[in-house]
Amino acid sequence: MAVSKDKFGRKIDYLRISITDRCNLRCRYCMPEEGVEYKSHTEILSYEEIIEIVKAGIDFGITRIRITGGEPLVRIGVDELVGMLNQLPGIEEITMTTNGILLPRYAQKLKKADLDRVNISLDTLDRDKFNEITRRDEFNQVISGMKMALEMNLNPVKINTVLMKGINDDEIMDFVELTREFPFHVRFIEYMPLGDKKEAEERYISLTSVQEMIMDKGELIPVNIKGNGPAEYFRLPDGKGTIGFITPISHKFCSLCNRLRLTADGKLKPCLGSDLELDLYAENGELLDAGGLKSQFKEALALKPGRHGFFEEGQETFKREMFQIGG
Ligand code: SAM
Ligand code: SF4
Repeated sequence: MAVSKDKFGRKIDYLRISITDRCNLRCRYCMPEEGVEYKSHTEILSYEEIIEIVKAGIDFGITRIRITGGEPLVRIGVDELVGMLNQLPGIEEITMTTNGILLPRYAQKLKKADLDRVNISLDTLDRDKFNEITRRDEFNQVISGMKMALEMNLNPVKINTVLMKGINDDEIMDFVELTREFPFHVRFIEYMPLGDKKEAEERYISLTSVQEMIMDKGELIPVNIKGNGPAEYFRLPDGKGTIGFITPISHKFCSLCNRLRLTADGKLKPCLGSDLELDLYAENGELLDAGGLKSQFKEALALKPGRHGFFEEGQETFKREMFQIGG
């Protein structure tokens, strides 16, 4: 089996695949409220093309896949894609990041297609605040989706919570308490400046202080949780779930990076916090052949920066916002 390490010694075996740039929410930190120009159907990768790319990825050393978006569950037949990916020898794990709205409808189908587990994004436990953050009234659907994920054993069910100063930082302990009662694995995430930089600066909270604050209030025991990322996990002594901290801005996120990203329009991205991307289409508009795809994986590995460029001089804005990359 191929193993690919970059020049910083990081083993790259994880591919995040964005299958759409469309979404049924408009989270403030991810997507503009209006004027979003979606890619047309012909501009995004077909499921068959995704499979060809993943085959080349397997030759390169990819063993784990995450399906993301936009919102992956708005793309028709996503459970079929999961089934197709599961047929590929060499793929050890397939997971999904979703806002959860459509999970009541799809969780059973996804389980049947052998999806291993889901991450669900939820930034507040208050319905009105949810409407403010996401600009849509879908809180109850997300809660039903979370219950459904547990019922279907899409375990461990992780909850992604982006912390925002003055918006949801008063709910930190409510999320911690949620892990006492339910087997949810809440991961607090630092706000990344991909869209509106000013808003990101104003809302950003370093998780170092949040972790200290939670520890001051009670005991946190370090634990290991199945996952692909750079989160550190803890649990309350009587907690059914866990609490994780993802610190792209304040901490050692980049040194543990193990991934490449595939955008819905067929670009391979070596790093989330960089405009670098490699086209997987040839000039004639056809997807590259197997050899060409594998070369682009190798090129992405060679170009992968040691760390993100969120605060690099001259990098005031990025070409893509988060919904066009997949998180
Ligand atoms: N729609 C799906 C969802 O929301 O889970 C998948 C795509 S979304 C882009 C993937 C993850 O990126 C979500 O957990 C979301 O909270 C996170 N995200 C989006 N914008 C972010 C930002 N500016 N900083 C930190 N995380 C962000
Ligand atoms: Fe949509 Fe996910 Fe972005 Fe929210 S975070 S707007 S749910 S893609």
